[in-house]
Amino acid sequence: MVPARKVPVLAEADVLVCGGGTAGISAACCAARHGAKVILLERWPSLGGMATNALVNIWHTSDRVKQVIFGFVQEAIDRGGSFVRRNAKYPTTYETHDFDCEGMKVVFDRMLRDSGVRVFCDLKAVESIIEGNRTRGVLVDTKTGRKAVLGRIVIDATGDGDVAVNAGLPYDFGRPGDGRVQGMTMMFELRGAVPTGGDKAAREQAQRVLQTMRDLRDQGRFPQFNDRHAQHYLANGTNGLYNLCPASGDPLNEEELARLSADARAHVYAYLDLWRKELPAFAGAEIVQMGHGIGIRESRRVRGMKTLDAQMVITAAKQPDAIGHGFWMIDIHDPTGTGYTTHSDQKPGMWLKPGESYHIPLGICLNGQIRNLAVVGRCVSATHEGMASCRLQSHCMVMGQGVGTCAAMALDAGVDMAQIDVARLQSVLRKDGVYLEDAPKPSTG
Ligand SMILES: Cc1cc2nc3c(=O)[nH]c(=O)nc-3n(C[C@H](O)[C@H](O)[C@H](O)COP(=O)(O)OP(=O)(O)OC[C@H]3O[C@@H](n4cnc5c(N)ncnc54)[C@H](O)[C@@H]3O)c2cc1C
Repeated sequence: MVPARKVPVLAEADVLVCGGGTAGISAACCAARHGAKVILLERWPSLGGMATNALVNIWHTSDRVKQVIFGFVQEAIDRGGSFVRRNAKYPTTYETHDFDCEGMKVVFDRMLRDSGVRVFCDLKAVESIIEGNRTRGVLVDTKTGRKAVLGRIVIDATGDGDVAVNAGLPYDFGRPGDGRVQGMTMMFELRGAVPTGGDKAAREQAQRVLQTMRDLRDQGRFPQFNDRHAQHYLANGTNGLYNLCPASGDPLNEEELARLSADARAHVYAYLDLWRKELPAFAGAEIVQMGHGIGIRESRRVRGMKTLDAQMVITAAKQPDAIGHGFWMIDIHDPTGTGYTTHSDQKPGMWLKPGESYHIPLGICLNGQIRNLAVVGRCVSATHEGMASCRLQSHCMVMGQGVGTCAAMALDAGVDMAQIDVARLQSVLRKDGVYLEDAPKPSTG
């Protein structure tokens, strides 16, 4: 409950989306296209969240047999033009597309503008305005002081669940046992390496350098690194984005985040120094950009009407309130920051079979407490393992499209989002290009 006080109202909308990452952009565009007046708030100067600002430039749309994510994701791919490239192995691989991060910012800006979304950057949602069991909007910190932004429906797409948790919704954090979240990574782009083609000589040379890195690391004289990725990048003389520099910490502790990002920047140059000296293919290499901060995979998970868990993921469970499909495995980066990831293990029981996908249910985005507040993206209701799958950008955009559309339809019908006729929502989503198969009928009992 916010104590009574007077703050100026900066803006007012039907649907207020807080957070302009992939989930928030998708939610905002889709709500606006269905007739809602929409505002999107973002604390950073540019949109895209982890996708653009942390340099996470890969989209996954296929269950390894066929593409099963279309809708808003496909539109972003199509509108991305030359900024987006399709993987030669499409559709037999999960990772179907990669994109230029700066270019995608421009594409996202256009998509929002063309959808009629009013966008505010450089301001942070700091408090929820709660009246009884409803939200009225948020208080934001701006250059000119604290102001209110109001919405009839609020969608929390902050990645951290800032708005929902401030509104009093319960949440979970970290893995069972020690409460630590998935490891983080500082992404960076390296150019000027000479591609080797990965021949035998290049692989052997890379192995020697890799062993030096391991030895120095074990003596505490070299930073941690993702071993499997390093083997690939070094053997091939890779130019492009490197997912190599791990860290661990608390995504809600600003001082720790500052330290982790600073350390990671130094670590990236420690890699480069060694590679330039020891690997001829890297003699002329340079770092052309890094994520603007350390990339965060997991934070608060706001409890909802349903919770996505490992079982639902790996058994490819189908849901009556499906808003789209997901297929990513239980992909956990070691929370202690060693760079080890369960993705590399390909353990049975962590992966779905090729051609299988699970349903992303609307219920992981809705809650029974504040019915005009929804959550989309990596802060939805999931266990630590469930989140390790549904955190993918394509999956976050599926949630955004489902919830954005649902919000506009609910306002139109004068009902809460949880009361929406799910079959009608699914039919609208299908018309908008969403792939949605096998949704069981809701039980009437
Ligand atoms: C290193 C790394 C590698 C990854 N690899 C892949 C991959 O290969 N493929 C893939 O699909 N996914 C990958 N992921 C996961 C994926 O990038 C994220 O889970 C996904 O982008 C989350 O999207 P989101 O919109 O939910 O959150 P975010 O992208 O985090 O967006 C949240 C937005 O909200 C804003 N915000 C936060 N708090 C506030 C506030 N209080 N007020 C206003 N704005 C606020 C933030 O600035 C941000 O722009 C990876 C993640 C990392 C870190």
